Amino acid sequence: MRPQDLVALEQQERRKRLQWSVVIRYLVIFIVVLLAWVGSQFGAAFFLPGILFSVAMALGFNLAFSYLYSREQINPMWPYVGIFIDMAVVTTIVHFTGGITSVFLPLYLLQIVGTNVQFSRLAGPINFFVGTALFALLLMLERQGIFIHYTPFDVAPDLHENFAYIAATGVTLVVLMAVSTYRSGYVVRSLQRVEAELAKANENLARANQTFQSANQHLKDLDQLKTEFISVASHQLRTPLSAIKWSLKMLIDHDLGPLTVEQEDLLLKGYQSNERMIALINDLLNVSRIEEGRMTFAFAVENLDPIIRELVEDAQHLAAEKHIALTYQAETQPLPPVWIDKQKLQLALQNLIDNALKYTSVGGIIGIQARVQQQELVVSVQDTGVGIPVNQHTRVFTKFFRGDNVMRMQTEGTGLGLFITHDVVVKHRGRIWFESHEGRGTTFYIALPLTGTPAQAPNQKEHFDQVMTKF
Ligand code: ADP
Repeated sequence: MRPQDLVALEQQERRKRLQWSVVIRYLVIFIVVLLAWVGSQFGAAFFLPGILFSVAMALGFNLAFSYLYSREQINPMWPYVGIFIDMAVVTTIVHFTGGITSVFLPLYLLQIVGTNVQFSRLAGPINFFVGTALFALLLMLERQGIFIHYTPFDVAPDLHENFAYIAATGVTLVVLMAVSTYRSGYVVRSLQRVEAELAKANENLARANQTFQSANQHLKDLDQLKTEFISVASHQLRTPLSAIKWSLKMLIDHDLGPLTVEQEDLLLKGYQSNERMIALINDLLNVSRIEEGRMTFAFAVENLDPIIRELVEDAQHLAAEKHIALTYQAETQPLPPVWIDKQKLQLALQNLIDNALKYTSVGGIIGIQARVQQQELVVSVQDTGVGIPVNQHTRVFTKFFRGDNVMRMQTEGTGLGLFITHDVVVKHRGRIWFESHEGRGTTFYIALPLTGTPAQAPNQKEHFDQVMTKF
């Protein structure tokens, strides 16, 4: 929060308190009138015209204050003028209801506590001194006979001349006023201190929040830059890598003449490394497409059965190299058609099968199954591999995640495959999840909505838009 905001807030708070003081004054006026009326009903000889005069005076001033406190600029002196007027009104009420014998003497205390709560630390002592002075002046004026003394009760009509009574009541009142001033002031100051600390803490929090937000924005900008960089770099790398691939392929296929076994072996290694590099570049490109929302999908109704069969067939030679039994079984025959982007789903399934092969040791088993289950086509890829540590399950579909256990095995990988697979499945309005036990194996599941379920079928408009973008 900026300093000027703080000042504005403080002023607003002050104005609220002052406006409250006006409301409280109306309330006190009402109570005084009510008590005077009740007292008169029970025979107290209050000087009612005098009380009405005091009340009218208080009402007039209160109206003036209510206007002043609603104005743009509040003069800091007004509340102090208010203190003086309030004490003067209290003194006149006390005067018209019996002076030193008035039952309204506690109004002085009420005034002290009330004002102390409303205003600054100076208000309490000023109230105390003004109240004591006006009360003393009243007693003096009444005693000198300059003001008449009203005697509201028949009992002890000379009480106001009794020195012991005057001293006891006067001293008691002044002491109580002093104690009230101190105690209420203390409470108010403690509250103000807490309030100030809270405001400061709030301010610090606002500042921290601002710093956090700008740091966050900076990070977002950097992330955007990074995505753009990866996208450009990957595009630039793909062309030379493709050229290398086809040159190596021609050599390996003996298109340019025979090779020695050693030469062929070396070229094959180069070719495989190049393929891995191409796969990495493709993954990076897919990730930047996902992050920039540029991954486009072309949905069509397809049968998954031949797609999975082809993928499994392609993977057989790698499985055979590791002596892994790789099988596929469609439990529901025939498999119902699904609404998919064939290429993207192939990529997703390929990732799952590749992972199963990569993370299953020699002699293991991989079973792929497809079945219909509650309006979904569920494909599962189950292996007897290394599994995923349970404390890392929540991170499996995040970018660049690689399990601790596979890092120790030093298998190659980027940690991007499952991130892409997850996105592809979600874009198909499908679900992806897994079950895994470290050291025992893993099963990944992909569930795709069947075309017959309109609620889950891909948005027709989206599909239309995608088809249109191809023209
Ligand atoms: P990569 O395989 O290139 O590391 P992926 O995103 O495909 O990246 O997988 C992320 C991580 O998830 C892997 O590094 C591995 O720790 C874990 N993982 C995925 N599939 C399996 C699996 N079938 N068995 C064990 N761990 C797996």
